[in-house]
Amino acid sequence: MSLTLTEARARSAQVTDVSYDIDLDLRDHAGETFGSTTTLTFTTAAPSTFVELTDARDLVVSVDGRAVEAAYDGRRITLEGLPVGTPVSVRVEARLPYVSDGDGMHRMTDPVDGETYVSAYLSLDIAQRVFACFDQPDVKATMAVAVSADPRWQVIGNGRVTSSEDGRWVFATTPRLCPSLFVVCAGPWHSVTWEHAGLPFGWHARASLAAELDRDADELRRTTDDCFDHYATLFDEPYPFDSYDQLFGPGHNWGAMETPGCVTYRDELLPRGRVTDDQRSRRATVIAHEMAHMWFGNLVTMRWWEDTWLNESFADYMGYRVAAEGAGFGGTLVVHEATRKPAAYVADERRSTHPVAPAPEDVPDVDSAFTNFDSISYAKGNSCLRQLVTWLGDDDFLTGVNAHLTRHRFGNATLDDLVAALDAASPRDVLGWAEAWLRRTGFDTIAVRRGDDQVPVLVREGVRPHRFSVSALDADGALVATRVVDLADEEVALTGWAGLAVVPNSQGETFARLRLDATSADVVARRLGSVEDELTRTVLWAHAFDEVRTRALPVSGFLDLVERHLPGEPRPALVSAVLDRALGPVLTRSTPAAEAPAVVDRVAAACRSALAATADDQVVIALTRGLAATSRDASALLGWLAAGRTDAGVDLDPGLRWSTVARLARLGALDEAGIEAERQRDQTFAGELGAARALAARPSAEAKAAAWATMSAPDVSNRVFEAAAQGLWDPERVGLCTAYVDAYLADSPAICERRGQGFSLVVGRNAFPAVQLSPAQRQRLADSLASGSVPTVLSRLWNDQLDDLG
Ligand SMILES: [Zn+2]
Repeated sequence: MSLTLTEARARSAQVTDVSYDIDLDLRDHAGETFGSTTTLTFTTAAPSTFVELTDARDLVVSVDGRAVEAAYDGRRITLEGLPVGTPVSVRVEARLPYVSDGDGMHRMTDPVDGETYVSAYLSLDIAQRVFACFDQPDVKATMAVAVSADPRWQVIGNGRVTSSEDGRWVFATTPRLCPSLFVVCAGPWHSVTWEHAGLPFGWHARASLAAELDRDADELRRTTDDCFDHYATLFDEPYPFDSYDQLFGPGHNWGAMETPGCVTYRDELLPRGRVTDDQRSRRATVIAHEMAHMWFGNLVTMRWWEDTWLNESFADYMGYRVAAEGAGFGGTLVVHEATRKPAAYVADERRSTHPVAPAPEDVPDVDSAFTNFDSISYAKGNSCLRQLVTWLGDDDFLTGVNAHLTRHRFGNATLDDLVAALDAASPRDVLGWAEAWLRRTGFDTIAVRRGDDQVPVLVREGVRPHRFSVSALDADGALVATRVVDLADEEVALTGWAGLAVVPNSQGETFARLRLDATSADVVARRLGSVEDELTRTVLWAHAFDEVRTRALPVSGFLDLVERHLPGEPRPALVSAVLDRALGPVLTRSTPAAEAPAVVDRVAAACRSALAATADDQVVIALTRGLAATSRDASALLGWLAAGRTDAGVDLDPGLRWSTVARLARLGALDEAGIEAERQRDQTFAGELGAARALAARPSAEAKAAAWATMSAPDVSNRVFEAAAQGLWDPERVGLCTAYVDAYLADSPAICERRGQGFSLVVGRNAFPAVQLSPAQRQRLADSLASGSVPTVLSRLWNDQLDDLG
């Protein structure tokens, strides 16, 4: 059972003045387990408490130097008879298993060079798989850390290394942190280091990714420095830690993790071959996001997990803003509007939706908290903060934020604390705003209406105050004017704009559904691609995503828009978002199985005509990826493999090459020997994943059976499970997948029970069948959920999937 709110509150009231002395022994990195010895020093107000430690073997516990027989249930060590009111020292020595699923001390051996990496990236409930601790956010403690490992390695952690001799690394004691912010990464990392603002900085990656890290090092370093300097202009508090390392780690379950002093990223963010402008911009956004957490999350930490959103919304908002303002990556908001915000609207209409800021009691335990790392907490919260900044003004917003950070530095705080600080900094009623925007679920609709005089009128259907831009377009989609309006109970007549098309929220400042009148909808349908402002164009595409999902627009109508307006679209991120939408939810959720091949063909045709209409190399790459996923022309695709480039002249970098291989396998045009030949060409971890995906994609019963067998292996890694699932599910050949949809529904609860939260995310979200489920399968999914036997994290994800099936 994961920690409950009640237990956490009792324990944080009871134990104080906590510090950890953590000693990890990674020398036997080929064995089953690593050594973990932790001395917890604290003062307790009652004689008994517990510390978390998962799956410990050879456990030895002593209190103030005396060995004790402590009860242990596999997750918690119960401590009794502790001295009250004076510092006590509890030493916990154990061996803990390495893991292959990212949740714990993740071990990965690189097939390129046989080098091994062991890293603990952490997040909720993972610290307890690495060291004995009070695993909750509001018990913060200093950490003195030492690690023994292969002397050839480099070990990176939260604090600076103060000594490293004979395979033993000792780190500077950290400021007060909560356990989930601990990090250690050990292996023969390739590093780029420098000094900035008087601090040591570094970027690190696996040795086999040295060329990729060196390729991007200048930009990664510049982005880091620029973001760092920009935060220094926004925040009064100085950067709170003693170093700033960043590491691309294998097997990471998240995009990245904001661990102080050593931020970790999934190493897919360091792509082999080509890195596109879109990828560079998205990566800069993640860098800025994680850095924002140094203040928001790490310096000031939430009290309990109900304020996950406060962390994530703030970092998400700052990530898009600072990557653009501070590091010069223009157009980051296009990605937010085109990919993240649409996901938030979907999430906000599921049964599982929750207020951006739930009450603590609505997050009764850590497993429930885990499921709130969702589109509400990130993208909707980000959108609400953007609306708040629009409504308050930037100066008052930053004044309030800074007062909050200074008041609670190295401590814990809640939403009420932040709202109080903002309220004091602004003449507006921030408390009322927070009630309307943060304490309620759902969103408003902004409708355009028009009377006989043809003057457009904006009407709000809902309860929230909005401030946003509205743009007027002529019949050709050209911008006539933009103005900022406040919309609440009273409708707003846009006088002077009679007869013009209007786009409310044309810069995306608010979070609301749009409903256009016939005049505006007609101009959008005909001229969407001609709308010059990229953010307005993105808002209109997102509106189309919403309409096709809610069946206000039929799939054929959506594909008409794609065919008409994808050609000529200059923004690669928007091209990718439209293709992802068409080949994701539109194909697998909104399209009957029998019509799936026709949808795929229409998308392929749109990619071809768009390719013929552009010379922009970044757009060409985005469209080529779309074509590689949809083309039925096996001989052309085989020609790409033979030439190492497409007929449009795009080099097949490893990612594009494996996508092409997967499509050929799916078409039955590449057999096991052909896939093996590709794997021989690319003997990397990514090559293994590409091969697993392609093998699973072959359109035969045997191939599908083998894919499911791969996914069912007891120690299958998170990445292999996901890659095989990508190949296995084939929306164009649902019949071949039927037996494995059934097997997936039957077996997943036990898999998730065994593997934990991070793996559940892979199973329930990334690997959920990307095919139309039959009515019987939907019923089975619903029955399984109703039985109560599905573990918490999987249950939440499956309920969401059930809602999305429509
Ligand atoms: Zn974050």
